[in-house]
Amino acid sequence: MDKTAGRPTWAEVNLGAIRHNVRRYVSALSPGTALMAVVKADGYGHGAVPVARAALEAGATWLGVALAEEGAALREAGITAPILVLGQSYGQQIAWAVEYGLEVTVFDRETLAEVGEAAVARGRLVGVHLKIDTGMGRVGVPWERFDAEWVQALGSTSGVVWRGVMTHFADADHPDPGYTRLQFARFLDAIESLRRRQALPPWLHCANSAAALRFPGTHLSMVRVGLGLYGLKPYPAADGLVPALRWLSRVVFLKQVGEGFSVGYGRTYHTPSPMQLATVPVGYADGYRRAWSNRAHVLIRGRRYPVVGRVSMDQITVAVPVGDPVAVGDPVTLLGEDEGAVITAEELAEAAQTIAYEVVTGLSARVPRVWCG
Ligand SMILES: *Cc1c(COP(=O)(O)O)cnc(C)c1O
Repeated sequence: MDKTAGRPTWAEVNLGAIRHNVRRYVSALSPGTALMAVVKADGYGHGAVPVARAALEAGATWLGVALAEEGAALREAGITAPILVLGQSYGQQIAWAVEYGLEVTVFDRETLAEVGEAAVARGRLVGVHLKIDTGMGRVGVPWERFDAEWVQALGSTSGVVWRGVMTHFADADHPDPGYTRLQFARFLDAIESLRRRQALPPWLHCANSAAALRFPGTHLSMVRVGLGLYGLKPYPAADGLVPALRWLSRVVFLKQVGEGFSVGYGRTYHTPSPMQLATVPVGYADGYRRAWSNRAHVLIRGRRYPVVGRVSMDQITVAVPVGDPVAVGDPVTLLGEDEGAVITAEELAEAAQTIAYEVVTGLSARVPRVWCG
């Protein structure tokens, strides 16, 4: 079934923008630094397989995912580039990682032993990356407890090849670089102690989208770029990135109403004067957040109009002044550019007191994706 032939609500992903953003990052990298394109969460909502292909064409050499399942889907699509599972692997995920030739992140001995056993049972070798917690405070071997025993464990577990050591920054987009510097210094200490033991694996990586642009000193052997790949700003001053996603719909119903007409559940909006009200078939079940009720704007024919009343599960209402030329069937830009005007993911994020990551990963599976460029 061609879902784009139904309800006129869809997301358009420009793969040319993805390639542009990869080249933007590659041109900023230190010589010899590889780029991992992070395509977890279905490529931040953009479609993991097409994005991964575009990123590899433009110069990325690694792919990063959060779950073994996500890596398996890339392999089933025929992608052969190295793939690292960035998160912890649970249960059956370890077997899947072995099966599909994914590299895994480890930071506890039990998981390391399980990975080794799963690999040996299948006659395979699995690449592992040791994660060190230098101050994110979520997962990883705490930097001050990273010791010779770990090196020993990694070296003596059958079935695993020690391929990398990594950490993750908590605050690389913060105007004050102090905490990132502290985390990086801790990471360098760990690297130095490995070097002294002549146990340094080939891939040393820590920089995310923000750090890769702001702190070139942190590039080491690889950077892991997610947000910037999609053209979203990892910090406000980031430049040279082109957003890849446009989220579109159409006016499906239009009516003229008088002053004092109430709109939507809870009657949170009353027209201050006679008005045209346009209905657009998108709602919170599509990821068009209820928090955008009476806050977000859309573009029609290049002009901004407010979303009025509550966002429903499947519909929103847009207020258009009487006399403005709007017709049933007109395209509505929910996110992205139209005739020079733009609704950014950052703007929508702010309107819901969240971040652009949550806006784009929030587009639900109900919204068909169309890839171009
Ligand atoms: C998601 C993720 C990234 C990418 O982060 P961005 O801020 O989107 O660039 C990098 N490293 C790890 C471990 C991640 O989980």
